[in-house]
Amino acid sequence: MEIGTLRIVPTPESIQELDRLGDEIAELAAHLDAATGRLLDLIREFDARGGWGNGFRSCAHWLSWRVGFAPGAAREHVRVARALGTLPLLGQALARGELSYAKLRALTRVATPETEERLLAVGRAGTAEHVERIVRGWRRVDRQAEAREAALQHTSRALQVYPDSDGTVRIKGRLTAEVGVLFVQALAAAREALYQQRRASDAATGPADVPEETPTMEQQQADALALLAETALHHGIDPGAPGERYQVVVHVDAEVLADADALGQSVLEDGARVPAGTSQRLACDASLVVMRHGRDGRVVEVDARTRTIPPALRRALHHRDRGCRFPGCGLRPGQGHHIRHWAQGGPTTLSNLALLCRRHHRAVHEEGYQVERRPDGELRFRRPDGRPLPEVPSPPTLAPEPVDVLRARHEAQGLRLHARTAMPGWLGERLDVGWAIDVLHPLANNPG
Ligand SMILES: [Zn+2]
Ligand SMILES: [Zn+2]
Repeated sequence: MEIGTLRIVPTPESIQELDRLGDEIAELAAHLDAATGRLLDLIREFDARGGWGNGFRSCAHWLSWRVGFAPGAAREHVRVARALGTLPLLGQALARGELSYAKLRALTRVATPETEERLLAVGRAGTAEHVERIVRGWRRVDRQAEAREAALQHTSRALQVYPDSDGTVRIKGRLTAEVGVLFVQALAAAREALYQQRRASDAATGPADVPEETPTMEQQQADALALLAETALHHGIDPGAPGERYQVVVHVDAEVLADADALGQSVLEDGARVPAGTSQRLACDASLVVMRHGRDGRVVEVDARTRTIPPALRRALHHRDRGCRFPGCGLRPGQGHHIRHWAQGGPTTLSNLALLCRRHHRAVHEEGYQVERRPDGELRFRRPDGRPLPEVPSPPTLAPEPVDVLRARHEAQGLRLHARTAMPGWLGERLDVGWAIDVLHPLANNPG
């Protein structure tokens, strides 16, 4: 048996009818693109004003939860919305329904305020496929330029240390960006340590003494560099394994661990106080021995094996919860959260545990979010003000004819969208991507 396509012989009436249908598709698509322009404006404002910060990891996570976008589409909308903040011409073309969202998405991957106008012309003239190909070629040139720039920066790294005629030492140098960040952070940490020392000694000598003049920022930086050098030589030059660099040790009173409002200490190893919620979080899924202090200051050692989650239980927990259970998150891997804290007598059992990512573990312990397991086994999350945070929000109520509403709104804005609004200027000639990039890209003709 042969399977063929069904062939319909067109009549003049059906051709006309299909043209009308095609026009209607093109017009509605232009309306949707214009509406997408408005949507991206709203997302940009919501993102910039931190509207998603009420418990979500990012604007994309919030979008995915609230609107139901797939995670990739949510991230892409946020990326494009942010990019349009500096690309007004592309944004306006979308809002007028003249440029499709697909073309705009591609163009915003490479466009800068300097190249926006040229790329908009590409978007207007070409099909979505042409635009994709030109953007790919454009990125190749960008990447080459970027790689040249990074290589140049790396080769030009230098630190010159030379004695001046009076015996002082001059320093001059240039660091790559990431080493620069490290250096600035280390200097800031050293300045902070010096400041703490100074405050402590001021407090010890009392206010009667003549206060020393506060050193200038430049002087503080010089002192900080000296402290860095001393510290490096004293402790041996060893950056440590990654795990060790971020290790945190907390000393917490037994009462505080059970009840955040109780009086007692909750301090980091270096003496800095941390909120009781923080030490409760760190102890919630502790893989270390937790040292609790009794009322008399003695260390009451806690048997780690009864508090940490045994491997078999942890496997079961990961299998059941898969990722973070906070609405809209799902990040993996998670930490085991005791719904009722073990310090308050909560058992380390599957029903008293829920997987939460680091961010949401903090939300629950330190930001007032609440989670409880209902009798039917489902988790229920609440915002700090007690309002529930549903797993899937209910969809908004739309007018019975949402497209008519859209059309009316666009007309009210003075937008006359029709079947040819987003038509490309392409007449069918072959696209020469190499030539197009040479003509359009500012760096294409002057490598290096
Ligand atoms: Zn917890
Ligand atoms: Zn999470």
